[in-house]
Amino acid sequence: MPIKSIFARQIYDSRGNPTVEVDLITDLGLFRAAVPSGASTGVHEALELRDGDGQNYHGKGVLKAVGHVNESLGPELLKQPFEVTQQTEIDEFMLNLDGTENKSKFGANAILGVSLAVAKAGAAKRGIPLYKHLADLAGNKEIILPVPAFNVINGGSHAGNKLAMQEFMILPTGANTFSEAMKMGSEIYHHLKSGIKAKFGLDATAVGDEGGFAPNILNNKDALTLINDAIAKAGYTGRVEIGMDVAASEFFKNGKYDLDFKNPKSDQSKWLAPAKLQELYEDFIKNFPIVSIEDPFDQDDWDAWTAITDKTTIQIVGDDLTVTNPKRIQTAVEKKACNCLLLKVNQIGTVTESIKAHNLAKANGWGTMVSHRSGETEDTFIADLVVGLSTGQIKTGAPCRSERLAKYNQILRIEEELGSAAKFAGKAFRRPQ
Ligand SMILES: [Mg+2]
Repeated sequence: MPIKSIFARQIYDSRGNPTVEVDLITDLGLFRAAVPSGASTGVHEALELRDGDGQNYHGKGVLKAVGHVNESLGPELLKQPFEVTQQTEIDEFMLNLDGTENKSKFGANAILGVSLAVAKAGAAKRGIPLYKHLADLAGNKEIILPVPAFNVINGGSHAGNKLAMQEFMILPTGANTFSEAMKMGSEIYHHLKSGIKAKFGLDATAVGDEGGFAPNILNNKDALTLINDAIAKAGYTGRVEIGMDVAASEFFKNGKYDLDFKNPKSDQSKWLAPAKLQELYEDFIKNFPIVSIEDPFDQDDWDAWTAITDKTTIQIVGDDLTVTNPKRIQTAVEKKACNCLLLKVNQIGTVTESIKAHNLAKANGWGTMVSHRSGETEDTFIADLVVGLSTGQIKTGAPCRSERLAKYNQILRIEEELGSAAKFAGKAFRRPQ
């Protein structure tokens, strides 16, 4: 029997919420994977199964999903003669067992835990690093290390401040290597901390879920100015650019956008029509080195998406819009709604489908940014994934909090292992090959 056992348990993510961890044992040992979880969840995502029992874990327990691995997925897989290298066949087998469009029978969190553990076991079986195994599964021949997109100021649903837009990121596109990009990110992060402390006091330097600062500012432009000043202080102007994740679905109300949505008494007359919000983005792009904007509009406000993608040359990233789902990606391609896919393994639920989603995006001339979730664990799978797929860009939080650094640190190790063969995406992060 190639797979000796599959066992799931409930553990806790970086926010202290339950999540699924899977142990898969082969004759080569134990392969463990943990599943991440998002806060700003698109309505079109695969279903993350929560127990929904308000008496326990605020309804967020995952014991049902754990049970599905231990009582259904695991035992059924053990009956099959699959080798752990057969990722596609194993993922398809699980999808057929589930049989639903959005993985609601077992839960995407149950299926993904097994899928990730299988990939790790498959790499070991082949005696190669995980990123190389994933590269082979994806048909990727050239290994390129990504530009990290560090989320240094947090707002939106991830932070307790007034800021509506969810993430303000720095991208060291002008670095020569991944390790230099890490140095730049770390140095800027600490300059930013000093800048925030000087302006708002020490208590403003507390960090949000993804390790970025969450100063209590309301004006999104102030966040961009703070970051631009920190980049300049660190001496990296021109070498470090800025990205944003607006997560606009979170503040879309009656066809308009409420940039004061965390205020229950927000002034309705100030809510912005899509065209007005686009003007605000154009103003940002003109005044700051912005190279990427994610979810600039609501997940079903297609016309607004098409308008901004047509108007600008920067990267427009679909996250809640596309939810790593091939059908949604296809629609976005047809509507020319964006030009980059945000790839989150738990939005779609298997390794095979994640690879397919990236390949579909790439075939249509899009970029792909691999992403963590706001609720993370110490699992570093996505670090190997971004290298294996060589998408050129990853966002996995600020250079702060170990569940975020775990991923960046793993890419440092991969860079070291590649030695002189290591290539860094740099300015070509949108289309590294
Ligand atoms: Mg997002």
